[in-house]
Formats: sequence, C-alpha cells, structure tokens
Amino acid sequence: MAARSKRRPAMPACPKCGQNKDLRHIEDCVVERRVTGVDETGVLVVDGFYITEGWDEASDNPRLYCPECDTQFAIPEGTEVEFT
Ligand SMILES: [Zn+2]
Repeated sequence: MAARSKRRPAMPACPKCGQNKDLRHIEDCVVERRVTGVDETGVLVVDGFYITEGWDEASDNPRLYCPECDTQFAIPEGTEVEFT
C-alpha cells in the first residue's frame, strides 16, 4: 500500500493578488421567466420571478472570481468541484 500524503490540497489562489481566503465560483446562467402576456400597448409582460428547479451543475463557463481585485480566472486544471 502506497503511503499517502496527509497534507490537505492547497486552495487555489488568485493569480493577480495571491489571496485565497475569499474566492467565488461563478458561471454563466440562463435565467428563465414565464411570459404572461402582452398589454394593451404591445409590451411583452414577463413574470419577475425566475423559474428554478433545484440547481444545475452543468452551467456554462465555470470559473473563479476574486472580489479583492476583481479578477476572474480559470479553475485549476484537474480540480474537481462539488456543490453542497
Ligand atoms: Zn485577487
């Protein structure tokens, strides 16, 4: 049996400022709203509430965002992401 490292994998860090204490996972999402009709002037009336069904882990263009320096960067290759 191979010896395993007991070190925890490192958190990704912002490539610009180096911090890794406050990172955000961001992605491009499609927002779906119900079209409820057309008013008397021809304006399309759309429900203000989103239609959501749980969450979708297959959103487009996932990446990390550093709010400290307003930088977006790729999730390091090989990193597995789990939503909880
Ligand atoms: Zn940063």
